[in-house]
Amino acid sequence: MSNLLSRRALLTTMASGAALAAANGDAAAQQAPGGMPAGGAQTLEADVCVVGGGSGGVGAALAAARMGADVVLVEKNQMLGGTSTCAWVHTWEPSRGCRGIPQDVWKVMKEDPAASLAEDYEASLQRVGGVWLPWEPWGFQWAVTRLLEETGKCRVLYNATFFDVEMDGGRIESVLCTFAGGLVKVRAPIVIDCTADGNVCVAAGCDYRIGEDPKSAFDEPNAPDEPTLSLNSLTLLYRITDTGEKQTPFAPAEAPKCPRSAALRTCGNGDILVNAVNMIPGNAVLHADLSRILALGVRLVYDHFRWMQTEDTRRDFSTWTIAGVAPEIGVRETRRIVGEYTLTEHDCQAGVKNQQHEDIIAITDHAVDIHGPKHKLYEVPNGAYGVPYRCLLAKGTENLLIACRGASFSHIAASSCRLSRAMMTLGQAAGTAAAVCARDKTPLRAIDVPALRQALTGQGVELA
Ligand SMILES: Cc1cc2nc3c(=O)[nH]c(=O)nc-3n(C[C@H](O)[C@H](O)[C@H](O)COP(=O)(O)OP(=O)(O)OC[C@H]3O[C@@H](n4cnc5c(N)ncnc54)[C@H](O)[C@@H]3O)c2cc1C
Repeated sequence: MSNLLSRRALLTTMASGAALAAANGDAAAQQAPGGMPAGGAQTLEADVCVVGGGSGGVGAALAAARMGADVVLVEKNQMLGGTSTCAWVHTWEPSRGCRGIPQDVWKVMKEDPAASLAEDYEASLQRVGGVWLPWEPWGFQWAVTRLLEETGKCRVLYNATFFDVEMDGGRIESVLCTFAGGLVKVRAPIVIDCTADGNVCVAAGCDYRIGEDPKSAFDEPNAPDEPTLSLNSLTLLYRITDTGEKQTPFAPAEAPKCPRSAALRTCGNGDILVNAVNMIPGNAVLHADLSRILALGVRLVYDHFRWMQTEDTRRDFSTWTIAGVAPEIGVRETRRIVGEYTLTEHDCQAGVKNQQHEDIIAITDHAVDIHGPKHKLYEVPNGAYGVPYRCLLAKGTENLLIACRGASFSHIAASSCRLSRAMMTLGQAAGTAAAVCARDKTPLRAIDVPALRQALTGQGVELA
């Protein structure tokens, strides 16, 4: 398959980083200039190592810890939540299949009336006619942090960046991270990749897909004849507030033109979150000059908001001003790792009642929703569809699961499946499976699937 790529030479560059970090480790006893600890190499032992603390990672870590596993959660940022907190994508769309951990998170958020804005979670659990659930990033951050702390079983390593794995055949022996200027090795019998981009899987040698799959790959009704590198667009979200006084529209002279579209969501205090959907072409993430494109971000925001103030006829924004810009750009799509099964448009269209899989561990029913030049939007025709456990099993590895938007989906299926709560539920399944396999010393592929499904339904997860 022409767009099926394998592990890149990038790792060569990373290896020099590893050598540097290892050298730091040798100097563990020394003090670095400025009196900071030099950050020696440390090894942490755990039952389950989760890499990436976004929606999928939080679901995975929480599920595994609740099952009694000792969990280490590696997160490169200084907060949990990933896209949902750092990129300010803090709205859950109406969708089925969102009981279980997402509902637990919402219940905690709801304790702060300012943090979660919708009263009725049940009303958000239907795609058609359901309500949107906006919430504030700090509420999500607080809720998931508290839920993880309550387990007493999860160590979160913030500011820890995964960069490579040590392998023994198809088995990950240790996960290598830079942390506090040094190197941390996490050794765990089961590893869950929740980095969104499938970074752990790629380091472990897994194949991946990127961009549009050709018709020949899965015979999907809406696939193009040839593969392309067209990816869903990137968006830098921003927040606006009403000052009550006339504002002078402003954009710097060099501001490039931003595409004129916006999805608006009202926050609890009346601020509006602006999602200028097609702000940056998605395949910018593939280019070496991504940094230059990211540097345009705030200027695009300026141009976009000046348009809303001066030309957007939907509403009068003349008294509004920009109240903040998300610290990270929102990325909808990058790699998708090749697993034991690939979820396709056929699954999305069939619906769970017509799918033949015996290993469904999550359901979801968001529309097929592709943003960018290959725009496509349609509701799935037969209601919620299921995601098989095999989509989480990274092919060619023994002890690695993937539970994030980079799991084994086709480009079209990913456009439906990638939503935050669906990722949390995939994480819940992966964390539960990992805890069981670590406890029973069972290979991931030998897990008792009916028992896994039963455990998940016992946790409130919907599977039908
Ligand atoms: C603009 C935009 C609008 C969207 N709108 C909606 C919406 O309305 N509703 C909805 O439900 N979904 C929406 N989505 C989709 C949804 O937000 C994401 O698909 C989902 O949150 C992804 O979750 P994830 O766990 O896969 O990845 P992420 O949340 O991105 O988490 C990945 C985590 O891994 C960490 N990480 C990555 N690499 C490393 C490393 N090397 N070492 C350590 N940590 C690492 C990251 O810091 C991050 O915390 C939108 C997405 C975008 C971009």
